[in-house]
Amino acid sequence: MTEPERFDIAIVGGGPAGQAAAIALEGHGLSIAVIDEQIRPGGQILRQPPAAFTVANWLADRSYAPLKRQLDRFGQLKEVRWLGGHSAVGLQAGSIVATGPDGLRNIAADRILIAAGCQDLAVPLPGWTLPGVYAAGGIQAFVKSQQLLAGTRVLLAGTHPLQLIIAAQIVAAGGTVAAVLFAQPRAHMIAALAAQPLTALGRASDLFAAGTAMATLARAGAPIRFGVGLSALTGRDRVSGAVTSAGNVECDAVGLCYGFVPQSALPRMAGARMTAAGPAGGWACVHDDWMRTSVPGLYAAGETVGVAGAAAAAAGGELAGLGIALDLGLLDADTAQRAAQNSRRRFARHRAFASLLDAAADPRPFFPAPDSGTIVCRCEDVEFGPLSERVSAGGSANAVKLATRCGMGACQGRNCEPTLLRMISAAGGCDDVGFTARFPARAVSIADLLSSD
Ligand SMILES: Cc1cc2nc3c(=O)[nH]c(=O)nc-3n(C[C@H](O)[C@H](O)[C@H](O)COP(=O)(O)OP(=O)(O)OC[C@H]3O[C@@H](n4cnc5c(N)ncnc54)[C@H](O)[C@@H]3O)c2cc1C
Repeated sequence: MTEPERFDIAIVGGGPAGQAAAIALEGHGLSIAVIDEQIRPGGQILRQPPAAFTVANWLADRSYAPLKRQLDRFGQLKEVRWLGGHSAVGLQAGSIVATGPDGLRNIAADRILIAAGCQDLAVPLPGWTLPGVYAAGGIQAFVKSQQLLAGTRVLLAGTHPLQLIIAAQIVAAGGTVAAVLFAQPRAHMIAALAAQPLTALGRASDLFAAGTAMATLARAGAPIRFGVGLSALTGRDRVSGAVTSAGNVECDAVGLCYGFVPQSALPRMAGARMTAAGPAGGWACVHDDWMRTSVPGLYAAGETVGVAGAAAAAAGGELAGLGIALDLGLLDADTAQRAAQNSRRRFARHRAFASLLDAAADPRPFFPAPDSGTIVCRCEDVEFGPLSERVSAGGSANAVKLATRCGMGACQGRNCEPTLLRMISAAGGCDDVGFTARFPARAVSIADLLSSD
């Protein structure tokens, strides 16, 4: 491996959390590397178009304005070396291995912040591997960054309210939404939000955004149905319909939207203590008041510590930046505490709302049932039937992985692990810590690995 490039601080993730941390560290004369798989900063929430493209009215809704201001400010930071188009594939305290257009890079930094965000929860059901079936966030990424539509008649189905926003963005981009199907009854969602009315009202802007999206869909004639579950997706070469508890729906693209799970490979690889992330599954990184993880020198912020939205991510990123400055002796304890007060308040408020949202969108009672031939692990083509037999025989997720290859492929279990853990839990196994995280966190070419020796 070549000599490492040295920075004072390395941040994985240029979304709201990573940007906020870098901004909080401004003015201390530090060198900061920000590594991100996306070419341009902004994270999942902004999804900037490629620099060579002009996208008319890119995220013109005023709810994006604070994030765009943060992005502008981040873009002006002199301390930041932006390493876009690079994936962090290996991480230990003090060092990161990243892969990008020029092969592997070795980055050394005494302080590392993981702000890697979240990903859609993958939900297996009969027909989900047909072309045209996406995680809803994937459909949204096309629309946000380039106004591309995944199909001419898009069905959204699941339990998460984000599907309303995505459906409205499809309509605004000129697309047709076949329907938005919530598997849970409307009363279930209302009861969850009404359980803590003050917390819900504290994020009135989100409720307003959902209301605006519903109005957009109503004007476009796109039905929004509650208490309608999916049983299968059908089609020959491409998805052409969905079988639901309320009949069949014709469509040529489907976005599945049952929730989001933190990107947890890197903190798990570094040996950081993790905890169950929430009802959708997955693992969140445990942290203290300054976003320090259990590994010295390693910090975590944003959806790496739990899925709670961009505002919580930004507040957590600020705390991480202040925590790093405190630990480096650049701020004294009183100054850091004073500077953190506002961020702490926002962090707590947004996290409280996120837990209401978790209750309203809890997918667990509403997952579609796979059949024996439904593929659970797409990388290794492991089907539900054989996997289920192996799970019934007992053993940990790692044991099932060894016996079936579930989770052994290119995605390293990011997609199938939550399903497998649900199966293990349903079969009576409990407290399974999931797959042992292994290098590389993303697929790396053998040529890159060889040339790094
Ligand atoms: C597909 C998708 C769409 C979403 N859309 C919305 C939305 O419309 N509205 C909303 O309120 N919330 C949305 N969310 C939730 C959303 O991600 C956040 O609320 C917010 O962006 C979180 O900020 P963050 O900084 O924690 O993470 P992110 O904004 O996700 O930023 C994390 C960054 O880390 C990078 N990254 C991850 N792993 C690696 C790695 N190994 N190496 C290098 N870089 C890495 C990613 O490319 C990403 O840019 C979406 C989530 C997803 C997954």
